[in-house]
Amino acid sequence: MVINLYDSATGKQENIVPRRLGEISMYVCGPTVYDVPHLGHGRFALVFDILRRYMEFLGDRVRYVSNITDIDDKIITRAQQEGRSYAEVAREFEDVWWSAMDSLGVARPDDIPHATEYVSLMVDAIGEMVDKGYAYEISDGIYFSTDSISEYGLLAHQRLDKLRAGARVEENDEKRSQLDFALWKRAKVGEPSWPSPWGEGRPGWHTECVVMSLGILGEGFDIHGGGADLAFPHHENERAQSIALGKSFARHWVHNGWVTVGGEKMAKSLGNYTSLSDFLSRSDPRAYRLLVLRSHYRSPMEVTPRTVSDAEESITRLDLLMRRYRVTSDVATFPDPATTFITMEDALQMGASRDGLDEFCQHMDDDLDTPGALAGVFELARKANSAFDAGATEDAERLAVTVQVLCNALGFTFDATDGKEFDEETRKLVQERDAARAARDWQRADVLRDELMRRGWIVEDTPNGTMLRGR
Ligand SMILES: [Zn+2]
Repeated sequence: MVINLYDSATGKQENIVPRRLGEISMYVCGPTVYDVPHLGHGRFALVFDILRRYMEFLGDRVRYVSNITDIDDKIITRAQQEGRSYAEVAREFEDVWWSAMDSLGVARPDDIPHATEYVSLMVDAIGEMVDKGYAYEISDGIYFSTDSISEYGLLAHQRLDKLRAGARVEENDEKRSQLDFALWKRAKVGEPSWPSPWGEGRPGWHTECVVMSLGILGEGFDIHGGGADLAFPHHENERAQSIALGKSFARHWVHNGWVTVGGEKMAKSLGNYTSLSDFLSRSDPRAYRLLVLRSHYRSPMEVTPRTVSDAEESITRLDLLMRRYRVTSDVATFPDPATTFITMEDALQMGASRDGLDEFCQHMDDDLDTPGALAGVFELARKANSAFDAGATEDAERLAVTVQVLCNALGFTFDATDGKEFDEETRKLVQERDAARAARDWQRADVLRDELMRRGWIVEDTPNGTMLRGR
């Protein structure tokens, strides 16, 4: 099966046919670790986590690379302000990043290259671009000549003269064009630096991703992703360098939309941001994944207290269904989405409904229509509850298992036990108690109820048998 995604380079939906059958290579620009991440960063991480999971669901093996920019002007500025080393600042905020990612249930990328590990390869690439005449030296470093690439500006979908007019007034008027960008920045006194043929300095931001993506995934990798604000100039500049280096670059470009506040982009520089850690300490982290799923990934997404509490309520509905399901079912514990990607084949083997899966895929294949796919999941959950109510346990379980596998495929976990461990032993006690009640052995049923209560559960009798809630 093949997913269709909107390709920012061609401006239309494209079949994502991987360069190697069954194996998808994807590179996504990761964070610059100089401060706490905000909701906008959480969105890109979730969008690509969901895309990755879905391609795995279809049976492809995804090699997912996402970098950490651990050297950058902003990191240096902060380090200088706080009187500590750039590495210390980067380490602190990288830790904050991963702990937020863990809370959001974002699976770790297969490769997490750090810019500082690739400096010597970047120096080699810059040297090659200088030798070939694509780059030139001025007083503060080496710059890429954007006029040397005939197709420069492809990802911006705007005319170059407009781009030139909109380009920030640069710090250096020796540049040949306003759009030219730094490949190597000569170090000022007190700045961290690496050796190069052009003196001590550090690479510009746009070079790390082209060197790391090609270095790890090789030429012609399948998907390059990132936030919409990276399409130009960051991704355009990566693309320009790959042309200069004579390497075929990403086959498809995928960009996700912004998080907005009152219609305006959420950004650190605008000061209108909510930090991810703040959000996660106040809300169910799963609510954010749900919000991301409820918006199409290319549309702007508004996060308000009302949409968050709506999302939390919807998740509670799923939790309740799973509690209902787990106490009546024998199904072995499901794989943890943090470490295992569920596939369509797994889902069928676990007894999920083929129709439910097909409908899900129809939406997801259509440029990752997660709002449509999610609506289908909630409809299945509604049907499962009705079937449980009507005592049609077999139907109910098939529907519930479908909800469970699809949610797992989207990266959701359930709180089926109010946060308490629903282990094998507890499950056995529940089954024994249901058997005792069915045999009208009330004494035995009471003993087992007391045992469950002793283990911290609230025990309820329902038409479907024993139901547990955490205390
Ligand atoms: Zn990048």
